Amino acid sequence: MDKTTDFGFKKVPEREKAAQVAGVFHSVAGRYDLMNDLMSAGLHRWWKRFAVLLSGVREGDRVLDVAGGTGDMARLFARRVGPRGEVWLTDINRSMLDIGRDRLLDEGWALPVVQCDGERLPFRANVFDCVSAAFGLRNMTHKEAALAEWRRVLKPGGRVIVLEFSRVWKPLAPLYDCYSFQVLPFLGRVVAGSADSYRYLAESIRVHPDQEALKMLMVRVGFQRVEYFNLSAGIVAVHRGVKL
Ligand code: SAM
Repeated sequence: MDKTTDFGFKKVPEREKAAQVAGVFHSVAGRYDLMNDLMSAGLHRWWKRFAVLLSGVREGDRVLDVAGGTGDMARLFARRVGPRGEVWLTDINRSMLDIGRDRLLDEGWALPVVQCDGERLPFRANVFDCVSAAFGLRNMTHKEAALAEWRRVLKPGGRVIVLEFSRVWKPLAPLYDCYSFQVLPFLGRVVAGSADSYRYLAESIRVHPDQEALKMLMVRVGFQRVEYFNLSAGIVAVHRGVKL
């Protein structure tokens, strides 16, 4: 029998999840950036800046942005690595990448862009100083395999940065649930024309590993010095690990 996995609160055959996730991001790509600003009241910009700061990326470094979507993280990294460095924007979804590539070009950034699955990267081992994934891991079918793959392409001494929704501080949970399950689908319907996509967002956050569970996963695939930093009362967390 087919193995199943989570797609929000639903169980789907593993081989169908990627297509369902693709459907979500094809449908919202055009309104994705606007929705991020509305849903987080602009906070996502600060979360991303903090994650890039934690990466310790320096001038001349080589960075891989997995599930990079419309390119927010890639742009921040590009500013840090400068002309001697390299930032690769990658994502499995063509609609998201097209928007990211065009937006970066309009702003004067000509970065290499590759459409690929974050669980099977088309890169040699030991080539990047940093691999980052912002709000991407949650959508992957095999999270542990994805983390192992990111570790594979890191140089010894390289860091992985995972910015993801996580477990909010308990006293805030009822309010956060109300926001996630009532307000988000409403905004999704009115602004992006898809309540279901933003219902998936709320559900996928709920079934994603919490701070400690993700830390354990990272340790299990071989990352060392794994630590995490809660932001906005744990609504999101940045996990960092090193390949030694
Ligand atoms: N990193 C961007 C940001 O922070 O704004 C985009 C995050 S968006 C919530 C999640 C992205 O993950 C989407 O662009 C989606 O296409 C991508 N994604 C989902 N599954 C993927 C996979 N298996 N490999 C690579 N990208 C994937």
